[in-house]
Amino acid sequence: MLSERLKIVADFITGPNLVDIGSDHAYLPIYAVQNKIVNQALCGEVVQGPFEASQKNVENYGLSEQIEVRFGNGLEILKSSDTVDTITICGMGGPLIADIIDSGFNHLTSKPRFVIQANTYPKKIREVLVKRGYEITDEVQYKDGHHFYDIIVFDYVKEDPADYSDLELRFGPINLKNRTTLFIDDLNREKKHVEGILSGIKDVEKNEQQILKLKNNLKQISEVLALDE
Ligand code: SAM
Repeated sequence: MLSERLKIVADFITGPNLVDIGSDHAYLPIYAVQNKIVNQALCGEVVQGPFEASQKNVENYGLSEQIEVRFGNGLEILKSSDTVDTITICGMGGPLIADIIDSGFNHLTSKPRFVIQANTYPKKIREVLVKRGYEITDEVQYKDGHHFYDIIVFDYVKEDPADYSDLELRFGPINLKNRTTLFIDDLNREKKHVEGILSGIKDVEKNEQQILKLKNNLKQISEVLALDE
């Protein structure tokens, strides 16, 4: 059974060819093929256990003709002959996902859609793809228990890429526009968290740099929250 989190991701996949990096169990590509969202899928895994789990699941579901599992680091698994319509990278921290995209981007021979689900800090991912001519075309936030997830869709635009502000890169242009209850609740949670750290710092002189960073962080959060007042 595919998680709600990955079902949201699946809704944004455009076929016919999917590449899922960090596939682990290969549930997302299996779901996408079974539900005819895509015809073909390629799974990438850099760790032996999850690689074998992906292979086994694909075989067990009888989908070896449509889903190939490759062992390798990030986008390095791609060959120039591969056709790619959507790349999904899910369930990892923002900085790791950004690094996978940034360091492996030269392995792409087209400009596929990226559907990203970051567990933390998605700013770097937005920076890396926007720098390469991509635009953010959809954003959804999802909370499961205490975990908060960002799902971001990037499409390549040939002309006039959007010029995003620092606030948009950090919080997401569509999140800022939609201002869902989840988004506002999460900002309030983060605000409290940062205020807590600030009030706990005893040696102000010694921690000047950290205090400045936290205050700037707080300023951005307060700026976004103030838009509701
Ligand atoms: N994508 C699945 C999901 O969202 O449920 C699995 C997420 S799991 C937490 C992250 C997976 O990414 C792990 O199986 C890990 O081995 C894999 N991974 C981490 N870095 C990777 C990289 N550079 N290239 C390929 N796979 C990677």
